Amino acid sequence: MDLSSGYPFWLIRDGLPFDYPMLDADIEAEVIVLGGGISGALAAWHLSEAGIDTIVVDKRSIGLGSTCASTALLQYEIDTPLSELQHKTGLPAAVRSYKLCEESIGGIAAIADQIGFSGFEFRKSLYFAASEKDNAFLQREYKIRKEHGFDLTLLNRSDIKNAYRFDAGSAILSQAGAQIDAYRFTHALLQYSIPKGLRVFDRTEIKKIVHGKDNVRLKTAAGIQLKARYLVYATGYEVQNYIDKKIVNLDSTYAIISEQANGNAEFWKEDVIIWNTADPYLYMRNTSDRRILVGGRDEKFSSPHRRDKMIKRKKNLLTRDFQKLFPSIPFKPEFSWTGTFGSTADGLPFIGPYKKLASSFFALGFGGNGITFSQIAAVIIRDAILGKKNPDMELFSFERI
Ligand SMILES: Cc1cc2nc3c(=O)[nH]c(=O)nc-3n(C[C@H](O)[C@H](O)[C@H](O)COP(=O)(O)OP(=O)(O)OC[C@H]3O[C@@H](n4cnc5c(N)ncnc54)[C@H](O)[C@@H]3O)c2cc1C
Repeated sequence: MDLSSGYPFWLIRDGLPFDYPMLDADIEAEVIVLGGGISGALAAWHLSEAGIDTIVVDKRSIGLGSTCASTALLQYEIDTPLSELQHKTGLPAAVRSYKLCEESIGGIAAIADQIGFSGFEFRKSLYFAASEKDNAFLQREYKIRKEHGFDLTLLNRSDIKNAYRFDAGSAILSQAGAQIDAYRFTHALLQYSIPKGLRVFDRTEIKKIVHGKDNVRLKTAAGIQLKARYLVYATGYEVQNYIDKKIVNLDSTYAIISEQANGNAEFWKEDVIIWNTADPYLYMRNTSDRRILVGGRDEKFSSPHRRDKMIKRKKNLLTRDFQKLFPSIPFKPEFSWTGTFGSTADGLPFIGPYKKLASSFFALGFGGNGITFSQIAAVIIRDAILGKKNPDMELFSFERI
């Protein structure tokens, strides 16, 4: 599957920062992680920190799946609002899912700190009503989150205007949130773990997988064999090649980023992450090199060709969306890109074992919280491989559908 196209900003800024070998001889390990995007890198990092002999394999160059296209907002706010998620999963599971996302932002921050990664920044998150009819919904959402201990404030029109310089009837300002360069973080995680024994191979496509009770055997396109006690599927949206349940709906999503502004230009207060209640939602964030990133305008995925043909039109629409909200902030788009984006019926990821495929675990962080879900998946899977019971696994099990 062709996962992204156009000019993903981080790929341009970071380029291809490290080389990894192609696998050219048979190999064994305790765990094989299939996929070298952010999910695979986080899983491999946690496994490696736990002293587990691990291999990562990817058919592309590292990070060139969805990860390089990610706009990488880290939010505890799942695509399904808590006031709705409670009706799909029950209240305790819904609240726990939100709490796990909140914790995972702190978890990613701690890892970034440990490995000396500079591309992580804490940011508050501002969720505003896209139309007047959404004000009542935002009040309900605020109330339920507040009741369950989330640190947030409900803002009215004049609060928003004074602090953030745009017009909306109401908004929830959450303290928890962050942004990251997900592509560079993926490389940083792997680079940190390689000297400790992690083995990473890219441009190595797995063509065949045989699941046994006590091991998994894989074969590459070139006929090289890999064997491990466990396999972690961190294959992103291409997981559909391996499982027979329909778990993900694919959309195409679009993003643009402005030219750099001069000096220390302030765009809006505290550079909060901004997103809204529209469906699909519009979102924006700033970058440390003083650019404004805007994303959204999702379409049902039909084909990479159709998705790519729309980049120019979407660039114009997203520019217009931004200028409508912030008419006084100059915005000249420099790069635009598109990527495939997956969502699930309840907004939650799929993490853990899949009954038909023994000796394996899945790390499938679909949706707008893909990266926070990747961190949750990595912790749960590490615990499972270490034989530790982690009750959170049930929340994201394949058995729920
Ligand atoms: C435009 C855009 C904006 C986004 N914004 C956000 C956001 O703001 N916040 C957020 O949290 N998430 C966001 N996401 C989602 C997030 O980017 C994804 O959840 C995340 O990158 C997925 O990472 P991954 O490692 O699971 O998948 P990928 O990065 O796709 O990695 C999977 C890897 O598996 C490899 N693979 C698959 N099959 C095989 C095989 N047979 N053999 C070898 N290798 C194989 C692929 O080559 C690929 O590199 C966004 C996504 C897009 C496209």
